[in-house]
Amino acid sequence: MRIDLHIHSTASDGSLSPSALVWAARTGGLDIIAVADHDTVSGIAEAKAASQDRVHVIPAVEFSTTHDCGEVHILGYFIDPAYPDLLAYTLDAVEKRRERVRGMLARLAPYGITVTLDEVVQLAQPGTRMLGRPHVARALVQRGFVQSVGEAFDRFLGDSAPAFLPTEMITPRNAIELIHSAGGFAVWAHPRLSTLEREVDRFVDWGLNGLECYRPNAGAADIRYIEELCRKHGLMITGGSDWHGAWQGKLGDFYVNGADVEALLDAGGI
Ligand code: AMP
Ligand code: ZN
Ligand code: FE
Ligand code: FE
Repeated sequence: MRIDLHIHSTASDGSLSPSALVWAARTGGLDIIAVADHDTVSGIAEAKAASQDRVHVIPAVEFSTTHDCGEVHILGYFIDPAYPDLLAYTLDAVEKRRERVRGMLARLAPYGITVTLDEVVQLAQPGTRMLGRPHVARALVQRGFVQSVGEAFDRFLGDSAPAFLPTEMITPRNAIELIHSAGGFAVWAHPRLSTLEREVDRFVDWGLNGLECYRPNAGAADIRYIEELCRKHGLMITGGSDWHGAWQGKLGDFYVNGADVEALLDAGGI
């Protein structure tokens, strides 16, 4: 069984619509995928409808959370996408992310870069709910201000670059609680080892259920470290590609096996 537990669609900053994603997963030989868009569940219904039970779609979400030490991404698996508090959160997040993009665009103006929020929205893919830095980066490319998305991040939008603004929407603790009340399991996405080492006890106290371990290009030593931490704390191990589009390779080239992520699949009743 081939599984990818971390994929983005055009509901956030992925390049394929949820139904195209399901098709690409099938073509790429995947049996189970989790559609885990940033701060939204708006792609899940379309992905489920397109899957026709040929690809199993796990409903998921990836929360951008604000922690003392910076941004931490928390994945929620097997959440109920119709859970009212979750929907209310995502509606609020749409507005907050729009305001953040507006703020980043204002920070670009002194560099002679004049792009409006409307232009970013118009240049984004149809169906995009949740705006983020990749949409701004693509707009800068399309308007000819930079040559590539990479250059946009390097010069303007990266974490230490001049136009960057953090997302400030929810704490890890509240995200874990929201995931639980929506019936799901909370997993720390692509943890940085130094942060993980320092913070894991607190996150476990807050009810964290797992750690994302298997990723494209993950080092063997890092994998061993996270596996050991999961054993020690009774956490579930997950893995996924964090695929956003073709520039990251072909969907399905990276996958985990059922045995690798058995605890999560069991927890979700698969
Ligand atoms: P945001 O949630 O708006 O802060 O955007 C984060 C997203 O930007 C990530 O999920 C990646 O898809 C993308 N991203 C972050 N850093 C880079 C980079 N250096 N080059 C290209 N894309 C990036
Ligand atoms: Zn992303
Ligand atoms: Fe992430
Ligand atoms: Fe992601």
